[in-house]
Amino acid sequence: NYHVLSGKDISKAMRVDLAEKIAKIKNQHPEFNPNLKILQIGSRSDSSTYVKAKLKASTESGVSCTVEKLPENITDVELLNRIEEINDDDSIHGLLIQLPLPKHLNETSITNAVSAFKDVDGFHRYNVGELSKRGGEPYFIPCTPNGVMRLLEETNIPLKGKNAVVIGRSDIVGTPVSSLLKKKDCTVTMVHRHSENVPEIVRNADIIVAACGVPKFVKGSWIKEGAIVIDVGINYIPDATKKSGKKLVGDVDYESCKEKAAFITPVPGGVGPMTVGMLTSNVYEAALKAFKEETKLPEIHPVPIDTSF
Ligand code: NAD
Repeated sequence: NYHVLSGKDISKAMRVDLAEKIAKIKNQHPEFNPNLKILQIGSRSDSSTYVKAKLKASTESGVSCTVEKLPENITDVELLNRIEEINDDDSIHGLLIQLPLPKHLNETSITNAVSAFKDVDGFHRYNVGELSKRGGEPYFIPCTPNGVMRLLEETNIPLKGKNAVVIGRSDIVGTPVSSLLKKKDCTVTMVHRHSENVPEIVRNADIIVAACGVPKFVKGSWIKEGAIVIDVGINYIPDATKKSGKKLVGDVDYESCKEKAAFITPVPGGVGPMTVGMLTSNVYEAALKAFKEETKLPEIHPVPIDTSF
């Protein structure tokens, strides 16, 4: 008797809602133009797929988006200089560096070079640090973790006091998801590749967030009856029946887990579309903040803006 949490449907509604909000503001203030810049370094095919999805979601949400492709062999200094120019460009509100970067580049210094005010991916050290603090105030929350939390909200189940097990401890998914669950007063356990007795730990979970990059890792026999299962994984496995020769699966064995879960996310159509939805929402927030600061005269030029999202 499980319920499928459709990130596809929720994110579609988010795009419609955002497009309406932006159009409403533009109606009175035509100069309001939320604008995202994506830098793609090199030409990894998986990165190109993600960038295309971000571009499409932006366009559908009324957010302008330009993708700038930079050569694979760009140096740290050249890339840092380009980032600096974009940081200084007031017409750009969000700057996203598509990861992973080619090996010769320093990912930490590159992500920290993006202005914290334009860091719509939430990877700048300021935003990372604020997110991990109790009562911290990041300007942006990373998109995939934020999408996971939005899906949990959809269940209408109070998170307070629940046992949450996060599988994976990466900087972009596992760790920030854990911070967000902690803020919601969950009891959070993070497991990783060195953890022992993972199935036993998962058996205690009311909420499972799988982000380990191992195809169909979480088995139905590990799931507590009535648990919420969120699958972040994106893995391609060989499949001779497909024209492409491969099939997309998550980090959860969907077929066996759905029998036990109360709520479960599919792959595709679960966390993936939520990620891009949260990105466009972050660009909107960035643009709104910049716009409010530029038009600092609320008494003379009232800006009737609904900031709830
Ligand atoms: P990562 O490789 O950076 O981290 C994987 C984590 O899982 C590590 O902390 C590792 O210790 C842990 N792990 C690996 N094997 C394990 C095991 N056997 N048992 C327990 N823990 C184990 O990956 P990531 O960037 O965090 O991504 C995780 C998954 O989510 C991948 O499948 C990735 O493609 C996907 N992803 C999806 C989205 C989205 O928008 N849906 C976004 C980012 C990543």
